[in-house]
Amino acid sequence: MGPSQKILIPVLGLVLAFCFYSSREKFKPEMLRGKRVIVTGASAGIGEQMAYHLARMGAHVLVTARTEAKLQQVVERCRALGAGSARLVSGSMEDTATTQQLVEVAEAELGGLDMLILNHVGKSYFNYFDGDVGHVQKLLDINFLSYVAMTVSALPMLKRSGGSIVVVSSMAGKVGFPFTVPYSATKFALDGFFSSLRQEFSIQSVNVSITLCILGFIDTENAVRAASDVLLISPAPKEECALEIIKGGALRQREVYYRYASTKLPLLLRDWAAELLDLLVRQRYRAERLRAA
Ligand code: NAP
Repeated sequence: MGPSQKILIPVLGLVLAFCFYSSREKFKPEMLRGKRVIVTGASAGIGEQMAYHLARMGAHVLVTARTEAKLQQVVERCRALGAGSARLVSGSMEDTATTQQLVEVAEAELGGLDMLILNHVGKSYFNYFDGDVGHVQKLLDINFLSYVAMTVSALPMLKRSGGSIVVVSSMAGKVGFPFTVPYSATKFALDGFFSSLRQEFSIQSVNVSITLCILGFIDTENAVRAASDVLLISPAPKEECALEIIKGGALRQREVYYRYASTKLPLLLRDWAAELLDLLVRQRYRAERLRAA
């Protein structure tokens, strides 16, 4: 290869990459107007903020969680913010009756579904693994199996609309994080299931997108209460996080990283310098503030 070719080929690669990324569709709030969206775990935190963004964009919002009184307030605020419509189904995602009811309401009252946002998360502890297998089992039911069950139930509607599944996961589902062992296991499981399913959708030309969202530390009440004393990093704002998740889903992106610099960039080390990444992760904790189980 001549010297001019040695320069030309990488330059051409860069130009092609630039064209590819700059020609990709840009997000517009109108993309969500009139869309029928289920948001799970919408009584608090990031899910609640997603419901409000969707409402401002004019979507039909169907929210769910266990606390009915809180969901009622979320629905009222969604209506005030301009939602196409706002409804709720209360119940635990461990219970298949909740999944069934959500699908029935979407089918009967909204006439179908365009986007399923799976976001709810069961309560766990922030400390050394305590050996409680029952807790791991319960968390898998809430954080993983109910995501699978909800996907299976909603899939016929999503296939009809050419819709989207948005799965809210975590850096703890891509890298081994200490002090959240059961939680991390459930988030890794989501990656395995939904990344494999995406492959099958592609092979079978199923027009349903799957967006996996990899989040860092976010300033929701529960997360801050559990971890801020031990984590040396500052949490990112839940409102912005919620918007980035919706954008990624609307654009049918494969994965969303929020915040990008503190999630995607460290992951570049994972395959080539895993031990360095592990060390960097451990340095973000004041482990001495925790008691061994
Ligand atoms: P959060 O504030 O604790 O809210 C959790 C939501 O899930 C609530 O609406 C809760 O409502 C609902 N929920 C809990 N158990 C449930 C059950 N058994 N059935 C149905 N709903 C249930 O959580 P968040 O911090 O916003 O986190 C949202 C998502 O982001 C989660 O998937 C989490 O893993 C992910 N994430 C968060 C962070 C962070 O730092 N915040 C970081 C990475 C990833 P009820 O109690 O009313 O049921």
